[in-house]
Amino acid sequence: MVTERMDALPTLHETVRIHGLRADKSLGQHFLLDLNLTRSIARLATPLDGVHVAEVGPGPGGLTRALILEGAESVLAIEMDDRFLPLLDDIARASGKLSVHHGDALKLNIAEALPGPRKIVANLPYNVGTKMLVDWITARPRFWEQLVLMFQLEVAQRVCAQPGESAYGRLAVLCQSVGECRIAMEVPARLFTPPPKVDSAVIVIDPLDTPFEDLKALGELTQAAFGQRRKMLRASLKTYAKRKGLDLADWLGAAGVDPQARPETISVAQFQQLCRGAAI
Ligand code: SAM
Repeated sequence: MVTERMDALPTLHETVRIHGLRADKSLGQHFLLDLNLTRSIARLATPLDGVHVAEVGPGPGGLTRALILEGAESVLAIEMDDRFLPLLDDIARASGKLSVHHGDALKLNIAEALPGPRKIVANLPYNVGTKMLVDWITARPRFWEQLVLMFQLEVAQRVCAQPGESAYGRLAVLCQSVGECRIAMEVPARLFTPPPKVDSAVIVIDPLDTPFEDLKALGELTQAAFGQRRKMLRASLKTYAKRKGLDLADWLGAAGVDPQARPETISVAQFQQLCRGAAI
């Protein structure tokens, strides 16, 4: 029934044309108008039975439609641009599964707005995507079961990078301390309307059973370490250790970290160990 009513909606291309919509660059708008593509993104979040999905920035609703067709229990679409509200209303009427919050997703408490279990699935606006990701991974208690998020490829690589890779840094250590992170799909720029300057990728983050709890402290430590990434740790962490009243050599030694190493070679587990050592 839902599928039939959704199939009766105008195609995404027609919808955008009928409403005369043009992308607003200031809101990071690049649309996915191919339902086959959005369905393969939505499938990365399956199974969706019984799951309530928060979708940030639905725009004309390509991914929104896909999430409903892939079986989400409900979708809460959070959109700042009011031009999309009539299009989203059409999807809400056809599906009976969509509610829309008109406003800034950075200011919405998703845990209060949507019942659980929850997943967040989104083709994020590039200008605020990383900020949203960090808000979600640092939220306590964790309120989501999975994150399936499209970023520009370079950000996706920074989330999923391993020690020794050039993209490895603070974002990888923080995200991988909370979840298992992987790049699930690369999406070339030409598949968006209008095409952005760079390619994109969808990352999937599945929560760890035992996440590292003190992300604030880990954030502070990794900021000190990667703030001067070309320097050896004995130099870049000198001020940090002094501020914390730590003997630098003892502290690094207890965590099995070579003072001459550079931050990009230190594993996530070692950063966590350093963090624990600094808290004592
Ligand atoms: N999901 C759509 C798609 O794939 O075709 C649109 C994706 S577009 C990259 C990003 C969307 O996020 C736009 O519709 C934009 O208006 C919306 N947006 C930008 N900043 C936002 C914010 N702070 N809160 C909610 N939505 C936002």
